[in-house]
Amino acid sequence: MSKEFVDVLVIGAGPSGCVSSSYLKKNNVNVKVVEKTKFPRLVVGESLIPRVMDHFDEAGLFPALDKMGFEKKLGARFLRGSEVCIFDFSDKFGEGWDWTWQVPRADFDNTLAQEVINKGIDLEFETEVIDIKFNGTDSITTVKNKNGETKEIHAKFVIDSSGYGRVLPRLLDLEKPSKLSPHSAIFAHVEDVNREEGVEGTLISFDIIETEVWLWVIPFSNGNTSVGIVGPTEYIDKLSENGDTTEALKKAISLSEYYVRRFGDVDFLFEPKHLKDYSCSVKSLFGDGFALTGNASEFLDPVFSSGMAFATEGGMTAAKLAIRQLNGEKVDWQTEFADYILYGVDVFTTYVKEWYTGNLQELFFHQPENPDVKKKICAVLAGYVWNKENPFVKKHDTVIKNLANLIKTEKQQQ
Ligand code: FAD
Repeated sequence: MSKEFVDVLVIGAGPSGCVSSSYLKKNNVNVKVVEKTKFPRLVVGESLIPRVMDHFDEAGLFPALDKMGFEKKLGARFLRGSEVCIFDFSDKFGEGWDWTWQVPRADFDNTLAQEVINKGIDLEFETEVIDIKFNGTDSITTVKNKNGETKEIHAKFVIDSSGYGRVLPRLLDLEKPSKLSPHSAIFAHVEDVNREEGVEGTLISFDIIETEVWLWVIPFSNGNTSVGIVGPTEYIDKLSENGDTTEALKKAISLSEYYVRRFGDVDFLFEPKHLKDYSCSVKSLFGDGFALTGNASEFLDPVFSSGMAFATEGGMTAAKLAIRQLNGEKVDWQTEFADYILYGVDVFTTYVKEWYTGNLQELFFHQPENPDVKKKICAVLAGYVWNKENPFVKKHDTVIKNLANLIKTEKQQQ
């Protein structure tokens, strides 16, 4: 079997793997990426949040993405019947980017991967990791290409960014069920022929059908729009009882007073995808000689579009720590990687849970709006979940519940 020798092997060329490999290369590390599929490939996760821009910028990937003219996302709109709540990222607490993009991931990820190649990184498509053996922090990874040929890649460190491939969690028995209750989704793209001119047509929206059931609408600059429904697994299973996802998504759209006119009569560009029980977790985010990033580690829920932000945060943090380790420094992966990443995961977990209890929805739609509360929640929705100066980060486990209870009491007294 042929052998290759690298400092860092990155598994997966999604956003997480592209950010880490690009940053490593920028810092003169000998890095290789292996990717199972051929790009462009379809993947879900089209609404970004501003925190990702910090990582694309630092990794040197921003200019290539910016040239693509993806739809700018300046905030997010939440709808509940006739109630509307709009967050504007420029009106948030603390520092950070005021905007990001809403993107067809096939094009977005392909741009990222091509830019990684342009930077001189060895990225091998259609090459799948099938095995790995560790000897201390050194490892030998066996990969197989589309012709069935195998080879060994010897690395001093491995970053597993394999998304739902979850390569190391599977091979090293690190899988753990998510703490969140099971939710599922069905989504597709449409040619948005009924899109209105101007801002309305391009606004990203979350339309609440029931407390735990919501529809996403993510317009792209190419004229297509992503439409999806999310709900408890039982609800989504019922919607697609006969396995017909086209009919299920049509039914879902018919539940939205706001969007039925725009999407009720349009055809889907591909057979809608059913993503069942999408939340996942791991027993540990790292081990001797490896780190798990993005969906290869933890995925919560699409409701606040936090997936890509964790993917890029994890990719960037792992890359920086791997460089220090390769330079002979002792790295405390527990505090500097796992505890750090999991702090942000914890904050978003609270927001996801409080979304599905309905408490956060109480805050979003409460009138009159409290501009100070809104600014602080907005910073969380922008992905700045490590800024402990924000009380809506620092006291995330109590602040939402307490405010929602106050609002409910106030309503009862009226
Ligand atoms: P991926 O983008 O999945 O990339 C992983 C890559 O690894 C893939 O290209 C895969 O082919 C490759 N791979 C897999 N196995 C192997 C192997 N054995 N060898 C080599 N390569 C391998 N996030 C958001 O930010 N915004 C959203 O709006 C959003 N909506 C979502 C909606 C739903 C219903 C779900 C389930 C998720 C959503 N997400 C969203 C989450 C988002 O999809 C992920 O968080 C994000 O894609 C993770 O990026 P990644 O780089 O970790 O993994």
